[in-house]
Formats: sequence, C-alpha cells, structure tokens
Amino acid sequence: MRDRAQTVIIGAGIVGASAAAHLAELGVADVLVLDQGPLFETGGSTSHAPGIIFQTNGSRTMCRIAQDSVALYDSLDVDGERCWYGAGSLEVATTPERMQELKRRQGYARSYGIEGTELRTPAETAELSPLLDPSTILGSYWVPSDGAAKGVKVVEALARRAQAAGVEFEGGVAVTGFDIRDGRVHGVQTDRGTVECERVLLCAGIWGPTVGALAGVPIPLVAVQHQLVWTDPIAELAQEPGSAHGDTWLQQPVVRHQDMSLYFRQRDDHFGVGNYRHEPIVTPQAEIRVAGKRSGSAMQPSLMPFTPS
Ligand SMILES: Cc1cc2nc3c(=O)[nH]c(=O)nc-3n(C[C@H](O)[C@H](O)[C@H](O)COP(=O)(O)OP(=O)(O)OC[C@H]3O[C@@H](n4cnc5c(N)ncnc54)[C@H](O)[C@@H]3O)c2cc1C
Repeated sequence: MRDRAQTVIIGAGIVGASAAAHLAELGVADVLVLDQGPLFETGGSTSHAPGIIFQTNGSRTMCRIAQDSVALYDSLDVDGERCWYGAGSLEVATTPERMQELKRRQGYARSYGIEGTELRTPAETAELSPLLDPSTILGSYWVPSDGAAKGVKVVEALARRAQAAGVEFEGGVAVTGFDIRDGRVHGVQTDRGTVECERVLLCAGIWGPTVGALAGVPIPLVAVQHQLVWTDPIAELAQEPGSAHGDTWLQQPVVRHQDMSLYFRQRDDHFGVGNYRHEPIVTPQAEIRVAGKRSGSAMQPSLMPFTPS
C-alpha cells in the first residue's frame, strides 16, 4: 500500500466509490480509497441493499439526485454485466386519501421531468405485477423509469473509472487514527501503516461516528437497523415469461405500499420484502460488526439467521 496520497477516502461503499470517480472526473486523481472489508463487497450497507430507486420526491433536489443516479447507473457496466434494471415502480393505494397523494406525487414527477408516469386502475396494476391481488387496492402510481441497481457492481464500475484515472483502492485496511497537528490532518493511521495526506473524505456510512471520533469530530448519526427478508423460490416466478432465458435479476416493477411501510422487489425466482413498521432499532457503534478478516467471520455484518422457533 502506498504511504502518501493527497486525498484519502475512508470507505469503499457506493458513496466513497462515487466520490472517487467524481473527483477523478474533475482531475483530482491523487486519491487513495481505504476499506476495512474486502473489495468490493465490503460488508457495508451497499453490500446488502436491494438497490431500489423511487425517483419521485416532493423535494426538487432529492428528485434530481435520484434522476441523475439512474442516468449514471444506467451508463455503467462491469465486463458487460449491467448495473441498472429499469423495470419500473408501482406505489399502491388502499385508501382514497393515498390515491389522492399518488395523484399529487404524479404532479411532482411531471413538473420535475420524470416522464411516462401514470395512475393505474387495479386491473392495470395487476397486469404489471401479476402476483398482486387487484381486489385489495384502489389503484397505483406507475413510474416506468424507476427500478433497482446492483449496488456492489455500481461500486466496482465507478472504482474502475476512478482507477483508470490513477485512483487506488485498498481493501482489508482499517483506519485506526489520524495524525492531526495545528488543526490540520497530516496523515491517516491504519492497521497497515500510516498514509501521509492533505485531506480526508469520510465515507464510512454507519461507522461514521466511530471514525469521526478518532479525529475528535462528532458525527451526529445513529445506526438504525432495517429489516429486509428474502423469500424462498416462488414457483410462479420461475414460470414467468422470459425466466427460461436471459437475465432474470429484475423483471417485475418494484412495489411500494406506503400505508403499511412496505416494499417488495422480485429478484430472479424470489422476492425481497422490506418493512419499516416497527419501533426504530438503534444499534450502538460498539455493536456494529465488521466483515472479513477483522471480524474473523465471513458473514456480512448485517446478515442474521432467523431465530429458530
Ligand atoms: C437492508 C438495507 C436495504 C437498503 N435498501 C436501499 C434501497 O433499496 N435503496 C437505496 O437507495 N438505499 C437502500 N439502503 C441504504 C443504502 O444501502 C445506503 O444508504 C448506502 O449503501 C450507504 O453507502 P455508504 O457508501 O455511505 O456506506 P457503506 O456501503 O456502508 O460503506 C461504508 C464503508 O466504510 C467502511 N469503513 C467503515 N469504517 C472503516 C474504517 N475504520 N476503516 C476502513 N473502512 C471503514 C466500511 O467497511 C464500508 O465498506 C439500504 C440499506 C440496507 C442496510
């Protein structure tokens, strides 16, 4: 590992990799990206996320960030393997109030430039998402350009862009401290030696407060658990047209049911179901696990087996 870089980025998740690629694009390539986990499936949040993007947002800025992200991910591939699947999204309504809200959301989308959105009847919704029972909903909001990204592939593709400009990535390197003198950072201490540097970009995700504390910088974030389960294979999905050939990673629109704080996404022959309808489960920094050699476990830090019943 090199012992000097103008900029050290801590964290090779989607944020660190994106920062590295964008810095390189701006001509800042004397950059070293460090991650405690293995590259590029580091064990951070990016390694676990189902990758869904719903672009519609009441905030013009958030909407624009999502639109730009879709355009960027759609432009990336890793040795021909695509990173973005624009299968569309459906938000369903089971109450008149939610249907009204979906109409309002379509208004945001129209004024912010998301094209092709529609309000759909229950029958039209079930045409797009065949396992959905149309008798249970009043309608839905359809965004054809939404979908999901393969997060780890996005990181790898962005890293390759940055590497082509001279940026270096090192996995299995834990940042353990900083050399700070006269109010300025002069180096980053790691379990593989010190890297002299002029600036540090902290992209450590849920570990941010721990790494910030090493520099005496309070980071006002708490890690909160999010529950996502993947089902066993579902026979109906294996029989979908197109399943016998080609890329089945995401064929059906992602579905969101806001009144139940639920989202669903198909992945190959099974579904992922995410839910927020519970009290927040805060995880103290000391209890957040690390993937790879530091933890002595191959298991990703946020994967847990079901408790036997
Ligand atoms: C189950 C789940 C589902 C999600 N679903 C979605 C979704 O559908 N759509 C969506 O947009 N977002 C989703 N998210 C959120 C999204 O995954 C995160 O916002 C995003 O991945 C954060 O990226 P990051 O680069 O900031 O963090 P991370 O990917 O966690 O990267 C931080 C990196 O810092 C490294 N690091 C930490 N401390 C150190 C240290 N001391 N030394 C060296 N390296 C260090 C870690 O190893 C890690 O690789 C989901 C998250 C989870 C967990």
